[in-house]
Amino acid sequence: MLKLGAMKLYDCHSGYKLPAFRQQKKKYKEIMNGFCPLASGSKGNCIFLGTKEAKILIDAGISTRATRNKLASIGVSIEEIDAILITHDHGDHIQGLKVMAFDMGIPVLANHETAKGIAAYFEECPKFKIFTTGETFEFRDLEIHPFTIPHDTLDPVGFSMRYEALKLGFCTDLGFVTSLVREQLKDTDYLYVEANHDPELVHASARPPVYKQRVLGKTGHLSNLACAELLHYISHPGLKKVILGHLSSECNTKERALETIRNYLGKHSIDLNLSVALQDTVSEPVYFELGAEIPLQHC
Ligand SMILES: [Zn+2]
Ligand SMILES: [Zn+2]
Repeated sequence: MLKLGAMKLYDCHSGYKLPAFRQQKKKYKEIMNGFCPLASGSKGNCIFLGTKEAKILIDAGISTRATRNKLASIGVSIEEIDAILITHDHGDHIQGLKVMAFDMGIPVLANHETAKGIAAYFEECPKFKIFTTGETFEFRDLEIHPFTIPHDTLDPVGFSMRYEALKLGFCTDLGFVTSLVREQLKDTDYLYVEANHDPELVHASARPPVYKQRVLGKTGHLSNLACAELLHYISHPGLKKVILGHLSSECNTKERALETIRNYLGKHSIDLNLSVALQDTVSEPVYFELGAEIPLQHC
């Protein structure tokens, strides 16, 4: 497995090797073991993930000011963020990099195609740490596995992660659930997953046909029902919490997503702890249950 600290750093325009940065572990005032969607939806996506040794953002799709304020509301300072992990190069996942990556210098973790997409989007290149889709790497106390998802850009990914004894899953922006996605999200303890739309509402909306085709297509977004089928497949007694994300503002509602998914799971006698992440509201943080530490005993 690759240690991210050992990965090469490149300026994506010239291939020039950049100096190492931020290798030093910080001393945190507070340990937050958990995650918290700060914003979720087509206007911008950003999730905070905190472990004993790392504070990272997954995507940076809202402004720096909004990110700063939302982080402050959960007791985290934006200056403490160690890195920003990027799923893909659509604006609703990267537009906040403008200040956070370029001006503040927070390292960006992305695969090569996404890094190129970011550089093209901003016509400028931030500090990248490049990972390879399909290859697990370490970042501090996290083992991160980026996996391919079907979406309409060059190399979009979801993430499955290992943290202590836990498995975490983060997966949005996918047109359908592939067998790889199912495999990667199996056995997760905590899951953040897309429930984008109800196809009926997409058809009924006033959006242009090209939009409808994209959202409903194989490289668009996941419907509530497809999300329910995925949850049915991967559900297991250890799945402690599922947060539904990236809901369409026009073609879904919180109530509709929860009702569709609960009804489907109910038919299979599955009852999951579900909640919904919204666009403008910071979600309730999810705190990881890490299990009691067993004290050392002298014999
Ligand atoms: Zn998106
Ligand atoms: Zn996207």
